[in-house]
Amino acid sequence: LKVLVSSGEHKQAITLDGEEIEILLNTGLNANQHGAVEGHFNGIGLYRSELPFMLTDVFPTELEQVNIYKALLEQYTNVSVTMRTLDIGGDKQLSYFPIVEENPFLGWRGIRLTLDHPEIFLMQIRGMLRANLETQNLRILLPMVSAIEEVVEAKLLIHQAWNEIKYELELSADEFPLPHIGAMIEVPASIFIIRQLAQQLDFLSIGSNDLIQYLLAVDRNNSRVASLYDSYHPAVLQCLKMIMENARAYDIEISICGELAGDPIGSMILLGLGYNKLSMNANNMGKVKYLIKKVSKHELEDCIEQALQVNSGLEIRTIFVNFLDEKG
Ligand code: PEP
Ligand code: MG
Repeated sequence: LKVLVSSGEHKQAITLDGEEIEILLNTGLNANQHGAVEGHFNGIGLYRSELPFMLTDVFPTELEQVNIYKALLEQYTNVSVTMRTLDIGGDKQLSYFPIVEENPFLGWRGIRLTLDHPEIFLMQIRGMLRANLETQNLRILLPMVSAIEEVVEAKLLIHQAWNEIKYELELSADEFPLPHIGAMIEVPASIFIIRQLAQQLDFLSIGSNDLIQYLLAVDRNNSRVASLYDSYHPAVLQCLKMIMENARAYDIEISICGELAGDPIGSMILLGLGYNKLSMNANNMGKVKYLIKKVSKHELEDCIEQALQVNSGLEIRTIFVNFLDEKG
């Protein structure tokens, strides 16, 4: 079931003034079932590796993991597949690894947990690297990074796994290159250490779901405060602007894989701020691509200028709603 996605105009999303936007897919469990959008994206921007772990009764073995990852890497051989390492904790629980905490979203989550259990991390990285032996289209993404030390430690473990496999299979570094490594920007602190992150990593990807939750201190799953979870909040806009400025200043690739990228207004805000790699769920792809083809980047930059002057998320939203209404 190999899918060719390397060529064809249908996958392109270009604004009226010629700005090419990379459209990437977020996937997890249903990695093999994207029939409707197959061929309409430029790669996998986020594979949530914890999802298959949530279906089993015990931790999958290294070989089981190799098979899971290999299926995805082989399905998309000619584009890059960004696999995020285990992001359990918070709202994502494993029945066989229960975590009880008063504040799970501020607790043992993502990279924090796997660095405390290097055997889990190493097994997963070995699984990913072995799966990537032939296709060499893997990129590794670290979730919930809040400090540079976490990145340094994770990279040491990734290098350890890479060296082990190189030695075991008697491969040279040329035959078995180390994949690119990136981090999620989803804890507000990470925004302020982009300079340091850029020295250690190949790319960054914004997790707007968590970033907004932590920035606004609003639980993303609590219906009582759902109205406070405002993706267009002026503080969110300022953060997205700052991330883009820092990513440019320190010359590191930046993309976004949170829900904002697949949201019609969110995607327009992101384009106006200069983002050109958007990763989203399959069901949002059609409408976002449709909009991209209808707008000019310079018009969106004008909208951003206005949005930076107003006081509320509602006003920011209205600027973009009116703009899209005018476009028909
Ligand atoms: C995010 O936080 O925006 C993200 C993409 O990760 P998840 O939704 O899996 O936490
Ligand atoms: Mg997240």
